[in-house]
Amino acid sequence: MRYFILSDIHSNLEALEAVLEDIGKISPSDKLICLGDVVGYGPNPNECIELMKERAGVTIMGNHDHAVLGLTDPAYFNPYAAYMVFWTRSVLSPANREALESYRISVIEGEILFVHATPKDPLNWEYIFSASDARHHLQDLKEHLCFIGHSHVPLYYAMDPRGRLTGGRKPAFTLRVDDQLRYIVNVGSVGQPRDYNPQSAYAIYDVDNKTIEVRRVPYNIQAVQRKMKEADLPPFLINRLSQGV
Ligand code: ZN
Repeated sequence: MRYFILSDIHSNLEALEAVLEDIGKISPSDKLICLGDVVGYGPNPNECIELMKERAGVTIMGNHDHAVLGLTDPAYFNPYAAYMVFWTRSVLSPANREALESYRISVIEGEILFVHATPKDPLNWEYIFSASDARHHLQDLKEHLCFIGHSHVPLYYAMDPRGRLTGGRKPAFTLRVDDQLRYIVNVGSVGQPRDYNPQSAYAIYDVDNKTIEVRRVPYNIQAVQRKMKEADLPPFLINRLSQGV
C-alpha cells in the first residue's frame, strides 16, 4: 500500500489540483493523508476544504485551521497570516467550518504518527528545522515514522538505536526506510513552499517497497496570484509564491 501525504495547502487550489493530478488515480488500498493548514494565505479556502473532504482519508489540524476556528489566537501570527485568518473566516461556508472542526490533532496508524507540527505537544506549534530540534522529538518517539508539515521546508532526520542522527533539508529526495531507524519526515508544502523552490511538495510512502519519496510539482502560480490580486490580498503574500519563500 501507499500513503500520499500532503500538507500546508493554504487555500491554494491551483497547487492542490496539480498535486492531485501528479498523484493520479489511487487504488482502494492506498490512502491520502492531509497534515493540515488546508486554509490561510490563499484565495480558495472553501474549494480546498471540499477537495480534501472528498479525497483525504484523514485530515490533521494545522495552526491556521485552528486559528480560523478561534482556537489559536491569531495575535501570535505575523500580520499577514493574522489578516488571512480573518479574511478566511469571512468567506468560509458553515459546512466547511464544520469540516475544519472535524480535523484531528494527530493520528497513529500502526507504526506511523501523522501530526502537523511536532510529535511532542503538537498544539504548541513548534518547528523542527535543525538536528537538535529533531533529536528532541526523535528520542522519545514511540513510532517508527513520523510525518509532519508546518515549516513548509522538506526534510528528514533518522535516528539509529545508539542515538546517532542523519538527514537534513533537501528540496526532493527518496529514502529507503530501515527498520532499525526512527524517522521524522517533513513532506513540505503544497500551497506555499518556503525552501526557495516555488514548486509544490508532497510525499509518497510506499509501505511494501519501504521507500519515502518527496516530490516537487510545478503549478500555475500566475493564476493563483491573479486571484489574490482580484481579492485585494496583501502583495507580500502574492509575491512570495513565485519566490518560494
Ligand atoms: Zn502552514
